[in-house]
Amino acid sequence: MTSNAHIDLSKAVYVLNNAQHICILTGAGISAESGIPTFRDKQTGLWENFRAEDLANCDSFVRDPELVWSWYQWRRSEVKDKRPNPAHEALATWQAKAGQLGQTISLITQNVDDLHEQAGSQATHLHGELWQNHCSECGQTYEEAIDPAVTALVPCKSCGGKVRPSIVWFGEMLPQEPWQIAQQAAENCEVFISIGTSSMVYPAAGLAQSAKQNGATVIEINPHPTDNGLVDIQLPYPAGEILPELVAQLSQAKN
Ligand code: NAD
Ligand code: ZN
Repeated sequence: MTSNAHIDLSKAVYVLNNAQHICILTGAGISAESGIPTFRDKQTGLWENFRAEDLANCDSFVRDPELVWSWYQWRRSEVKDKRPNPAHEALATWQAKAGQLGQTISLITQNVDDLHEQAGSQATHLHGELWQNHCSECGQTYEEAIDPAVTALVPCKSCGGKVRPSIVWFGEMLPQEPWQIAQQAAENCEVFISIGTSSMVYPAAGLAQSAKQNGATVIEINPHPTDNGLVDIQLPYPAGEILPELVAQLSQAKN
């Protein structure tokens, strides 16, 4: 780490030690070191000729439900053995000792994987959860687990409609309750930390903006810093490297 980086890390530790309410937004980048590709990474293998944006889309499901369903089943089979990395673990450690530090930490994620939960965190999912399903016609939750190996469409038990993953697709509204939790956390925090998100996907990207408007300091953890003019402290490193260090320093300063 260069000396500038040490200064930036110290600045981040300083503002965090003086904050009570912290809002953290994570995106696909936090799971990259666990081996789950981000949307910016080109797809490989079977799906290399498709763009994720064209599949995670409600129009595509209407046009070709088999294609979209089998892509999600493939993603599930790719994700099922993935485990949290030191970034997820550091956030879980921090959440666990937040009470002791006199802090509240709201963890909001755009990710659909369950790596925050596997690490022991509680996270608010803005874009749904990869392992859940519901009926595309009557909306009923499909409770039974579906094996990722099943590539054929699954019929709804009450109406026979096509079961779909409970993911928020491009062109769909965010679920109301998680969005309200996120907005409140962003408006009421003193420090907002954006981790591994390209900050391009609205409305989630607006959270940093409303935190900033309400006087929060914005910290970004991303090896490719985003150019949105909102960030006060840049930590341009992989999340799995910098977060354990950051969280370790917080506890040192408080104990
Ligand atoms: P994105 O793919 O647009 O951007 C990922 C960002 O992570 C990039 O800015 C990249 O520079 C950064 N990054 C890469 N490696 C990193 C690392 N080791 N540490 C920190 N940052 C790193 O992702 P997005 O902004 O989350 O938006 C895309 C949408 O795709 C989201 O809505 C999300 O639901 C969905 N998605 C989810 C997953 C998942 O659940 N794991 C995976 C892919 C896409
Ligand atoms: Zn149904």
